[in-house]
Amino acid sequence: MTQHMPVIISSENGRGGMLAAMHLLREGGSALDAVEIACRYVEDDPTDHSVGYGGLPNVLGDVELDASIMDGRTLSAGAVAAVMGYGRAIRLARQVMEQTPHVLLAARGAERLAAELGESPQDQRTDEALARWRERFTERSVDLDEQVPLRAIAAQLTQPLNLQDKLYKAGRVDTLGTVNFIARDQQGNLASAVSTSGIGWKYPGRVGDSPLIGAGNYCDNRYGAAGCTGMGELAIRVSTARSLVLYLKMGMSLLDAGLEALRDLQVLDARTGQYMNIVAMTPDGAHAGFTTVAGKQYLYMTGAMNAPQLAERTLLPG
Ligand code: ASP
Repeated sequence: MTQHMPVIISSENGRGGMLAAMHLLREGGSALDAVEIACRYVEDDPTDHSVGYGGLPNVLGDVELDASIMDGRTLSAGAVAAVMGYGRAIRLARQVMEQTPHVLLAARGAERLAAELGESPQDQRTDEALARWRERFTERSVDLDEQVPLRAIAAQLTQPLNLQDKLYKAGRVDTLGTVNFIARDQQGNLASAVSTSGIGWKYPGRVGDSPLIGAGNYCDNRYGAAGCTGMGELAIRVSTARSLVLYLKMGMSLLDAGLEALRDLQVLDARTGQYMNIVAMTPDGAHAGFTTVAGKQYLYMTGAMNAPQLAERTLLPG
């Protein structure tokens, strides 16, 4: 059987996970195991404030995790949303895929499955993340006041102070962050995984694109895979990940498929200043990154490389 060169790509914060995954791929491990291990590495890292343990809490101070995983061989997928009190959301997503007839379990149901499978409950809040959470209330002179609807408080805390803010316009938003990985193994199989604590200070129960198959994650061995990071509400509204893969199926090149997915996003209200990033891979291991804001990068590594490298994400011309 032909041996394929292993390849893995990720969002910018995936470096540590990528090295662990590449080690596995070089030993002949599957793309599915590789993307799970890669996400777990980032989930366990308390210094990453956008994923797993140490992730940014919602407006009430609770960390709610979203994750999904997809197997390009079979189109099997598993996901969890708004999970509290358990880390390793990606492992749980995989268990949903392998141990239940479902694709997505949310909140109580996902937590119940975790307990049933013997996962140990763990408070996902670190002192550092809680301090950051509190700081924003002070910075913006906001209190958790029962007289004010929670939706108004969450809206105030998740919004940038000023939409014209240069950092905000450049996509450096301190409420966001997610990790995603797409891998191809030596058998030529593709798999993709996404894990996040979602938007910091979000309304409780808010679910982003990351656990929604088709929005933030999609993988099909025949055509390719795509994953999103950025303001999940955008990718949900135009099914970004599945659309990009569908454009590949329709015969577009990887570049054209990515640009078409960006055009879909462009149709959404640009005044919100929200942004979206995409990573994508085709079955031959070719990869690309796309973004709606300038200056964004993604990471890639092949079996022939010693370390992950950064590459620029493509913007829509003009
Ligand atoms: N897409 C994630 C969400 O909306 C956040 C992010 O990628 O930064 O939950």
